[in-house]
Amino acid sequence: MAHHPSTDPHGLKRRGVLFVLSSPSGAGKSTIARMLLADDPELAMSVSATTRTIRDGEVDGRDYHFVDLEEFRRMVAADEFLEWAHVFDNRYGTPRAQVEELLAAGKDVLFDIDWQGAQQLFQIAGGDVVRVFIFPPSMTELRARLERRATDAEAVIDARMARAANEVSHWDGYDYVLVNDDVQACFRGVKTILAAERLRRSRQTGLIGFIRRLTK
Ligand code: 5GP
Repeated sequence: MAHHPSTDPHGLKRRGVLFVLSSPSGAGKSTIARMLLADDPELAMSVSATTRTIRDGEVDGRDYHFVDLEEFRRMVAADEFLEWAHVFDNRYGTPRAQVEELLAAGKDVLFDIDWQGAQQLFQIAGGDVVRVFIFPPSMTELRARLERRATDAEAVIDARMARAANEVSHWDGYDYVLVNDDVQACFRGVKTILAAERLRRSRQTGLIGFIRRLTK
């Protein structure tokens, strides 16, 4: 993966962070993602492609690239995805080119992808990837949140709850876990993880030169 261009006066460069946020829907992941992006100009979102239909309020190209099955298959065959997976009855994938462009431009990249995506990304990019899982405070609270949204029929909520239990069962595929009791506290926690991960020694690529100058 690309290195960040050096903007540091000490000649320190660092590898970009591939920051994965996963959680069951309703646990507050998209709110946290929005807060992070608004707070941090060095972070940019990876916009996935999906075959699912667009929902009210969503914008093509901002929330997802909405494509049909034929186009999705073409992208898979052309190796245009860094990772892709079946989620519910639809397919979702991370376009490779966008991630490479963001890293080359010196950004860290935020991914709202499921456990399958987190696993695949880790297999490809290893130590560059940070996997964060957000738990709901309880399954009862999760159902209450889904019902408060009131956009979905009872059967859809049941299906989302089953899906949430499945998503939670993959907690051990993550580096960090948080419980979203309070959105501000959860946001602060996620910000702290990102700040610490940016300082990891293994991400600093200009370190040898810096130490040489420092100690000569
Ligand atoms: P939704 O349809 O509610 O927007 O998303 C459903 C699930 O698909 C979420 O858990 C979301 O994180 C996941 N997802 C979205 N984009 C991708 C992607 O590019 N790859 C993978 N593996 N999962 C994704």
